[in-house]
Amino acid sequence: MTDKIINARRTILKQITLGLASIPVIAITGNAYAAKNDAMRTALKYGDKPVTVAGVVQRCDNCMQWVPGKTAKDLGGCKILPGDTEINPAGHCTAWVAAPAKK
Ligand code: SF4
Repeated sequence: MTDKIINARRTILKQITLGLASIPVIAITGNAYAAKNDAMRTALKYGDKPVTVAGVVQRCDNCMQWVPGKTAKDLGGCKILPGDTEINPAGHCTAWVAAPAKK
């Protein structure tokens, strides 16, 4: 009986220790995956603000190349900017093409 309690305590302490130890790793890896494709951004004149052309507001999140982030406001990606995970949903570049209308 006492051995079971000691083993249970050890298990709980191990889980707490592993949980605390993983916090910095998660923080580091979270940043490690964020990346910008500066060469393509420059080539396509990417900017973090939308552009209005002939009354149409052109934004990344209404472009057919847009790859959404976790939520509608989160940074996402773009199919023609490989490796770039920091595209602003309100951004714009010269390759903008209207996304098909949602049904
Ligand atoms: S092509 Fe340009 S406008 Fe469209 S999602 Fe990519 S970066 Fe944004």
